[in-house]
Amino acid sequence: MRAAIFRGAFNIQVEQIPDATILEPTDAVVRIIHACICGTDLWPYRGQGPYTPGWQIGHEWMGMVEDVGPEVRTLKRGDRVIAPYDFADGTCEFCQKGLDSACVQGGLWGFGHEGGQAEAIRARFADATLVVVPPSVEGDEALLKAILPVTDVLAAGHHAAVTSGVRPGDTVIVIGDGAVGLCGTLAARRLGAERIIVLGHQAQRLTLARQFGATDVVTSRGEQGVRQVIELTEGGADAVLECVGTEEAINMAVNMTRPGGTVGFVGCVADWLQRAPIFPNC
Ligand SMILES: [Zn+2]
Repeated sequence: MRAAIFRGAFNIQVEQIPDATILEPTDAVVRIIHACICGTDLWPYRGQGPYTPGWQIGHEWMGMVEDVGPEVRTLKRGDRVIAPYDFADGTCEFCQKGLDSACVQGGLWGFGHEGGQAEAIRARFADATLVVVPPSVEGDEALLKAILPVTDVLAAGHHAAVTSGVRPGDTVIVIGDGAVGLCGTLAARRLGAERIIVLGHQAQRLTLARQFGATDVVTSRGEQGVRQVIELTEGGADAVLECVGTEEAINMAVNMTRPGGTVGFVGCVADWLQRAPIFPNC
């Protein structure tokens, strides 16, 4: 089968690799129908952050189940499934707590494991990892494409909004105008935020942020950005969504939080990837 292989900075090739097969009884083989390129893929693509030449890439995908191992119970051949950005066993201490991204047997697709930018994939821990898409979406290509961001960015933005405790009427800060930040903006509005301040740098994305519910946009960063937001909010916000993942953005998020407020921290990029021993699955 063909798959996208990282060969070094600015060099990703479509190459022939062995067909996906069942290796463990909990595996499924999925024919990939839709896949995304994520901002997380761009870090290694640009040569920022460790990624080993020869690794597959891609962690946002959905497709049709072609085969299941003997221990797979919740999926069958022909099911359309959507995957989160990582796989998890569903049984370890962390999975039991709902922290499947910290699963002791888990990992990100790509990053030395099977990748999602491929014709097919060996999906590990298929029962715990994959979600069956309701058959009602069949035949609606626009809807299928629209649900694809649930694989990562839409879920991540929503998670940031929920974990930062957004409540109706709140003032909310969203740091980052990438896909996760934009999805966080949508989520904050959906949860009833009254004022949503988005920090970013790209005019096109900030226009989209306004369409998605941002009431204010701030383009300055670092200390200046913090000062500006503190002034706008008269002391910071109760809910801050950190959707970038650099040290600068994390510091900004903490410094913009009102006393007693909460940061929903979902950014996960080069700074974290380089601390792999501390955050094994991020
Ligand atoms: Zn992603």
